[in-house]
Formats: sequence, structure tokens, C-alpha cells
Amino acid sequence: MEPQQRSPLLEVRGNVELKRPLVKAPSRLPLPGTRFKRGPDRMEDALEPEKKRTRGLDTVTKIATSHPRPPALTVRPQTQSQTTAPKVPKKTGPRCSTAIGTVLKKQKPDPAVPAQKPGAAPPTLGGKKPTKRPAWDLKGQLCDLNAELKCCRERTQTLNQENQQLQDQLKEAQQQARVLGAECRTLEGELARVQAQAEQGQQELGNLRARVLELEEQLGTQQGLVQELQKEQVGLQEERRGLAARLEEQERRLQASEVALSGSQAEVASLRQEAATQATLLVAQGERLHGLEMERRRLHNQLQELKGNIRVFCRVRPVLPGEPTPSPGFLLFPSGPGGSSDTPTRLSISRSDERRGTLSGTPAPTTRHDFSFDRVFPPGSGQDQVFEEIAMLVQSALDGYPVCIFAYGQTGSGKTFTMEGGPGGDPQVEGLIPRALRHLFSVAQELGGQGWTYSFVASYVEIYNETVRDLLATGTRKGQGSECEIRRAGPGSEELTVTNARYVPVSCEKEVEALLQLARQNRAVARTSQNERSSRSHSVFQLQISGEHAGRGLQCAAPLSLVDLAGSERLDPGLALGPGERERLRETQAINSSLSTLGLVIMALSNKESHVPYRNSKLTYLLQNSLGGSAKMLMFVNISPLEENVSESLNSLRFASKVNQCVIGTAQANRK
Ligand code: ADP
Ligand code: MG
Repeated sequence: MEPQQRSPLLEVRGNVELKRPLVKAPSRLPLPGTRFKRGPDRMEDALEPEKKRTRGLDTVTKIATSHPRPPALTVRPQTQSQTTAPKVPKKTGPRCSTAIGTVLKKQKPDPAVPAQKPGAAPPTLGGKKPTKRPAWDLKGQLCDLNAELKCCRERTQTLNQENQQLQDQLKEAQQQARVLGAECRTLEGELARVQAQAEQGQQELGNLRARVLELEEQLGTQQGLVQELQKEQVGLQEERRGLAARLEEQERRLQASEVALSGSQAEVASLRQEAATQATLLVAQGERLHGLEMERRRLHNQLQELKGNIRVFCRVRPVLPGEPTPSPGFLLFPSGPGGSSDTPTRLSISRSDERRGTLSGTPAPTTRHDFSFDRVFPPGSGQDQVFEEIAMLVQSALDGYPVCIFAYGQTGSGKTFTMEGGPGGDPQVEGLIPRALRHLFSVAQELGGQGWTYSFVASYVEIYNETVRDLLATGTRKGQGSECEIRRAGPGSEELTVTNARYVPVSCEKEVEALLQLARQNRAVARTSQNERSSRSHSVFQLQISGEHAGRGLQCAAPLSLVDLAGSERLDPGLALGPGERERLRETQAINSSLSTLGLVIMALSNKESHVPYRNSKLTYLLQNSLGGSAKMLMFVNISPLEENVSESLNSLRFASKVNQCVIGTAQANRK
């Protein structure tokens, strides 16, 4: 069949057929995502109306296709197409038009048409179907055309109805399409929402995965930590076990200690009782000890007095390297009545009278001079031996008796060595001053046990040309030493003090050593400007000792004076008097004057004269309280072992002998 032969109605029918797939749109099927909103049963329900619709449409189609066949078909002789038509309903439309076409084409020559005249049967050609009415059969033709027209009209009416139905179906389908479109949009919105949700879900999933990773990492760390803690726990458990064992041990010990303690407490109680008894005893012993101490002091003093309040020790220094060895027999130390075991107290010095020997031509005769002192120290005597002899005397100062020790002799005879010590700070050659102070500090400490407290204040001055200078001066006054004056400490006071001089409290050897060092420096500075002034001046080290027994209200105070006197040598009368010598003469005169004043003071004290010329020299005035009635005095006469110094040695020995003959009245302790 040719498509151009289709009637407009068939076109419409074709459209209806083309639109049918719209009804069966796949979008009407349930979407995969909608399963969450609708259950499978609901999906069935959702599908159900669709099916119904589809079925409905099918029904419509069937209706459309199963409308009554044109009457022409019923009158027309049956053909192959007519018998097969009902079998394919969908193709009814086109088949119908085909049938119509066929009918239109075949109706003209059909002899069975009722419009054909009964008498005018159409001619047949040998039994073949008539194809066309003869031209002359106008009536037949008209009849055919009327029949055909009628058929066409019926057909048109039927088609109109069908068209109406199809339009209704179309409207319904369009309505359905709109509903489905709306539903589709809703579903699309839903799909978008679901997709957004899915995306969000994905994102959340990603976040959760990251979180899971993080948590896994944390878990790993925590597990490591847990392992460490477990290890630590094991260690701690072990430690705990150790501690528990120790605790047990300690508890055992504690129990033992408690037992011991209870025993000890009983012991303590008895000991306390005993202690109380002992304390009573101690008080009694303390009383006794104090009595004994006072007795010791009294006896000690008596012993010192028996030894003499003025004692003279002679010390001969050794021959120094480089000095000429004296001839044998020049200096002799004869033994006492007790033989060599006796402490040496004698000294003999032999002097050859060269003038007499020269005049007569015979060997010069020697004159022997014998001297006797409280003690003689031959050249080999050490500093410790010397100090041993004076330690008891120094201790008297702690008991409240003024003590004064002099070193007398010519320059170079060993005075400074005896008083301060030898060079180099060697403890073996330490002099009397450091040794005496160390001894005093030590004894004061011992007496501290008996309730005595002592304080010591040191001063060190030099007297040069009747001028007093401070050897402990520091700072700008160092070396120069502004002049000092000797004054009474207060109106009516017996105590003397040196103005501008430093009085330094000392309590240990180091402090004393520092003071001696400072004095040496001060002398060294002075020496540069004034030639060897140290040997031309008296050095007076004084220690004010104050003791107190607070418990018994006892006090004692006394000065200890250690004096390194100026060289006692005389000036050679044969020397020409240049400007330097004149100065030297004045120095010597001052020295001689003060030394002879010292002798005179000692004599006056010995003879108990009413007037003692203390004020005739600065030296005796300064030492006023250390000489006289209540004082104990010791003089070292230092002798050079050299023959060339024999004259000065004899002078010194004679002076010392005079002093040695003096006896000063019984000393009184300065007790308050
Ligand atoms: P002075 O002070 O009388 O002028 P020194 O004490 O300065 O005399 O002594 C003079 C020298 O003799 C110094 O070098 C000193 O070291 C030395 N000296 C003095 N006495 C002794 C002694 N007993 N032992 C050793 N050397 C001594
Ligand atoms: Mg000296």
C-alpha cells in the first residue's frame, strides 16, 4: 500500500499510534532511589494505575480498532484481507483504509452490487470479473456511486466518532502526561535532593573515614601508651614489692627499736636521776674548780714573784753565714752548780786588751767578764725554747697582772728576730709576739669552760726621736703616720691611750699575723725616707686583755707589752760630724736618753723611790702601767757573737746586769 494514498483520517490514526509510547514512558517506572521512600508493595501499587491506564488505552485502541466494520465490508465478497483482519487489531486502521480503497476500486465492476439493473447484466469476458460498468450504464454507475457515497458517509461518521474518541483519549493522555510530568519533576526534585543527600552522605562518609583514620592513629598512640604504662606498672609493682619487703624489714626493726626504746627509757630515767646527782656534784665540783683556779692564780703569781718581778734573759744569736768565726773561748756558757743538766744562767765573755799587748810586745792579755742572768740562751737555742720560758709569764697577763717584755741590745743582735720572728714566715722561727698571742687565745678558750670570757685589743706604735707613730696606720696615713700623743684615757683614769693610733680587736692568730705584716709594711715605707729607722726606734706592741666571769661578777684587765727597743750602740766619738752624722747623733742621743730613762725608772721602782721619772721619755711614759708595783717585767738582752761587737756586747750585758739586780715589790693583780 502506498503512503500517499492514506486518507487524513488514517494520518490521525497514525498519530495516535505514534503518541502511544508517551503513555508507556520509561520515566513512569519507579526510580532506583525511590525504593527508600516506597516499599516494593507500594511500587507495585504505583505501577498498578499505570498498567490500568495502559490497559485502558489498549482497551480504547481495541475499541477504536474494533468499531463496526463499514457496511461495505459486509456486502463485499469476502477476501483474504477480511478474514485476517480481526487477527491483527492494531493494524485495523490502515487495513480498514486499504479495505476501503480496495472496496472503492473493486466496487465498480462488482456484479453483486444491488444498484445494478436486473436486466442489464454487465458483460463478462470469458468468466473474468467485470472491471468497469460500461459507459452507457450511467444508472448503474450512479447507483454504485450512491452506494459508495453512503458507505463513505457512514465511514466518515464512524471515523468522526473514532476521532472524537481519540481526541478524548489524547486529552486524557495529555492530562496524564502533565500529571506524569509534574510527578516526574517532583521525582527529579526528589532525585536531586536524594543525590544531594547522597553527596552529603559521601562527604560525611569521607569525614567519617578521616575521623576513623584519626581515631585509629589515636588508638595506636593510646595502645603504645598503654603498653608503656603496663611496663611502668610492672616496674612499679616490682618496686612496690621491694618497698613492701623494706617496710616489713623496717617494721621489724621498729619493733626491735621499740623494745630497745622502752629499755632505753628506763635507762634514761635512771640516767636522769644519775644526771641530777651528777649536776649537784658538778656544781660542787665547779665551786671547787673555781677555788682551785683562784688558788692556781695565787700560786702561779707566787711562783712568778719568786722568779722575780724583773727578770733578765740573755740571748746570744748564732754567727750568720759570711760573718767571721769568733776565736774559741771568746764566748763561754759555764755550767751552774748542778752541772750541764742545769739550765744555763751564766755567760763569760773574754776581751783581749790589744793596747797593752802592743805596748809590751807580748801577746795581748784577755780579760774575762762573767755575767749571770735568770736564763742564758746560747746561739743554738730555738724560738720555741725561748718562748717556753716566758709562756707562764705571759699567762699572768690573763690573770690580771701587767706584763712587759723588752728586747735590748745593739743593732743586729737579734732583737727583732726574738720579738717578731725570722724572715720567710717559717713557723719554726716565729717570734714571741705571735707565739704569746696564740698561747693567750688558747688559754682564754680553756678558761671559757670555767665561765671566763676574754677580749683582746691590739695596738702597735713606734717611738722615733721622741715621736710616737702608729704602725697599724692604713690608707693615706700608711707609712707617714701622723704624730700620735700619749694621753690618759679619761680624767682621773690611770689608763693611757695613744691618740690617732688604731686599736684593733683580735681573736685569732691570722688577725695578729695580718697586723704584724701591716707593721712591717709601714716600717718598710718609712725606711726609704729615713735610713733604717726601724733599728733607730722603739717598737711597742701592746695587747689590752680584759677578762670577765659573769657568773661570779669577776673582772680583770691588764696590758701585755712586747717592746723591740732601738739599737743600744753608742756613736763613735771619733766620727767627723757631717750633716748626716749630726742627725744620727740626735737620734742616738734620743735613744740613749730613753734607754737610760728606762734604766732609771727600773732603779727608782727597785729602790721604791717616791718619784719615778716615767715622763722623762715617751717610752717609759707609754709603758707606765706595765712597769712598777703590780707589773711583771722581762728583759731580753740580745748579744752578737762577733768579737768586733764585744764592746757593745759588754755595754748591753752591764746594763742588763743592773736591771737584773733590781727587785720590784710584790705585784698586785688588777682585779676589780
Ligand atoms: P736587731 O733587731 O737587733 O737589729 P735582727 O733581729 O734584725 O737584729 O737580727 C739581725 C740578723 O740576725 C737578722 O738577719 C736575723 O735573721 C739574724 N738573727 C738574729 N737572731 C737570730 C737567731 N737566734 N737565729 C738565727 N738568726 C738570727
Ligand atoms: Mg730590729
